Order: sequence, then C-alpha cells, then structure tokens
Amino acid sequence: MYTIELNKRQQKIIEIVKDNGPITGEQIADQLDLTRATLRPDLAILTMAGYLDARPRVGYFYTGKTGSQLLTEKIKKIKVAEFTSMPVVVQDSATVYEAICTMFLEDVGTLFIINKNGHLAGVASRKDLLRASMGKQEINSIPINIIMTRMPNITYCFKEDYLLDIAHILIRKQIDCLPVVKRSDDESGFDVVGRITKTNITKAFVELAHDELL
Ligand code: ADP
Repeated sequence: MYTIELNKRQQKIIEIVKDNGPITGEQIADQLDLTRATLRPDLAILTMAGYLDARPRVGYFYTGKTGSQLLTEKIKKIKVAEFTSMPVVVQDSATVYEAICTMFLEDVGTLFIINKNGHLAGVASRKDLLRASMGKQEINSIPINIIMTRMPNITYCFKEDYLLDIAHILIRKQIDCLPVVKRSDDESGFDVVGRITKTNITKAFVELAHDELL
C-alpha cells in the first residue's frame, strides 16, 4: 500500500497489540525494550491512522482494520467543502460572446448563470458555447439564457455532501462540474457558493496518496 508505509517498529507494535490487547503503552514499551517516550510518536500515528484504538486507563486495542479498509473509510468521509473551488458566474442578461470571454479569462470549463436576484438560473459548458457559435446567429446578439441548461434541470450539491457521491453523479450524468449551492436567505432560490469539477476530485485523489497518516 502506498497510503501508509508502516516502519518495522510500528508493524511490531501492531503485532504485540493484536496478541496482547488491551495493553498499555508501558507494557508495549517493555516488550520492545524501549521507553514509553520513544514509542509515543509511533502509538500516535497508529491510533490516528486507525490501526489501534486507545481507551484511557485500559490501553490499546487492535481495530482489525486493514490499510485499504482505512483508506476507504477516509475517502467516504471527504466532504465537498474540503475541495470546492471558487464559482465563476455570469448574469443571465449576458451574451454568448461575453460568456465565452469570461470562460477564457477565468480559465474554467463551466459557467454558472445567475438571475437578477443572484440565484442560480443555469449552467453553460464549453460545448454549449461552441454549439451556439456554430449557428447562423451573431453570438453578440444571443443571450446566454437561451442556450444554457436551466433550472430545474441543474444538478447541484451542498458543502456538506460527500465528495464520493458527487464523483458518482458526475460519472452517471456525464457532466464535468456541479455548482455548490446554499439555499438563499429568503428561500426563493439557491446562491452559488462553489464549484466542484473532475479536477477537484482528482486533487482529492492525489492528496489521499500523499497523506502519510492515511
Ligand atoms: P461539455 O458540454 O463541454 O462536454 P459537460 O459534459 O459538463 O461539458 O456538459 C454537458 C451538458 O450538460 C451541457 O449541455 C451542459 O449545459 C450540461 N451540464 C453541465 N453541468 C451540468 C449540471 N451541473 N447540471 C445540469 N446540466 C449540466
């Protein structure tokens, strides 16, 4: 496993706890001919990573979880809030030309369109804009709200949602991006507060691999 490389001593500690748990840090240290202080960082790592469980005044238990089970648990816990990016929005009164300029300037693949109340009204992807540019009509005269995918057909998510669920949605719906929204104070719509794309999910994937504590 790449996720957590246990050193020899940590592996030995796991074996001792497996065979003798519950066992105190002092007793583990005795078995290894080391001091409790020397072991402290290893015990902290093993507990934080989920291999061991520590109960006050009882000692350490082996949780019985493998590295891949712990990794799965960790993936399932990641929330949208941890990886969301800044949303890029345009007004529904903007033209397709202006939307294309915004897409280039902000370097994003999907724009969110908001109405005059500032609430989510639609989504425009790269291909939506390409398609609009291929028609006979001048892109300077086509409003973005004619060509966007509109509410209520927008798939959105909330900061508290799990990233893994969003990954499933992106695959199932074959889209690149979801707006992260918050119900507006007057409950009449959704405010756009973030953006989750396939790139954010790739970042989460890479970060998991670099996270030494799993
Ligand atoms: P592209 O069209 O550039 O390949 P997508 O695959 O993300 O980009 O978009 C495909 C279609 O789905 C587009 O018409 C777009 O408007 C629409 N779309 C994109 N994101 C969403 C979303 N979150 N909810 C609803 N429709 C979306």
